[in-house]
Amino acid sequence: MDAAAVFSLEGRTAVVSGCNTGLGRAMAVALAEAGADIVGLNRSEAAGLGEEIARCGRSFLDLRADLAHGAPAELVEQAAALTGRVDILVNNAGIIRRRSALEFSETDWDDVVDLNLRAVFQLSQAAARRFMSQGGGGKIINVASMLSFQGGLRVASYTASKSGVLGLTRALANEWAPLGINVNAIAPGYMSTNNTAELRADADRNDAILGRIPAGRWGRPEDLSGAVVFLASRAADYVHGHTLAVDGGWLAR
Ligand code: NAD
Repeated sequence: MDAAAVFSLEGRTAVVSGCNTGLGRAMAVALAEAGADIVGLNRSEAAGLGEEIARCGRSFLDLRADLAHGAPAELVEQAAALTGRVDILVNNAGIIRRRSALEFSETDWDDVVDLNLRAVFQLSQAAARRFMSQGGGGKIINVASMLSFQGGLRVASYTASKSGVLGLTRALANEWAPLGINVNAIAPGYMSTNNTAELRADADRNDAILGRIPAGRWGRPEDLSGAVVFLASRAADYVHGHTLAVDGGWLAR
């Protein structure tokens, strides 16, 4: 086996939602480093990312997309304008709202579930249709969470949505594996991004979380690079419906 070839994404085009910051940005760069051209679906401009991807010798198209209330199928067709195809979809865009369940509002429920779960299904369906029409299969990588496995505190809609992402990953894999489409997920542990700023700012929560991470530190966005390249590559051709934790050992405790 030629390991470099099996992990190479040369000639592939990857669509990454929410890659202007945080985990999505690091995954977009990792995919470009492995050889993929990148299309971002971003609410606001991904400043400087085009230059970073160009340094890898790859192209970048930054499409404006607010996925809050649905992800129109045309987005995937617009993404295909960069190279004429779409081979990989990373469903990364996601939000969290922290409130006790007794005080949780309908808006905090709907906003989170619409983006974290509904838009994931819609983009996946559009990508799978595209994979079918162009031929050659494809890869879908969803971003799950520790709260796909655990209940969490004060995050009812987030836990529901990310547990849903794990189930959806399995459900779509069952239907699409026979079509040559791999659907898998990455479950990041506690990573240092905007998403966890509130937790890290709370000294007690910060210490409690750090104290149970076997690796002894918060994750960094770059910690997801290997997992996303693996799941997007031929090396994962026989991996279907799996949610891969990249969590510094959190779930092992
Ligand atoms: P982040 O807040 O830095 O990034 C979230 C991304 O989603 C941004 O690019 C943002 O622009 C995008 N986004 C938000 N609302 C959008 C909308 N309406 N339309 C389009 N894009 C929108 O946080 P992050 O930690 O990088 O989060 C990325 C993903 O990782 C999310 O799905 C999050 O739930 C998940 N995650 C994060 C952690 C963590 O510890 N940071 C852990 C597990 C899972």
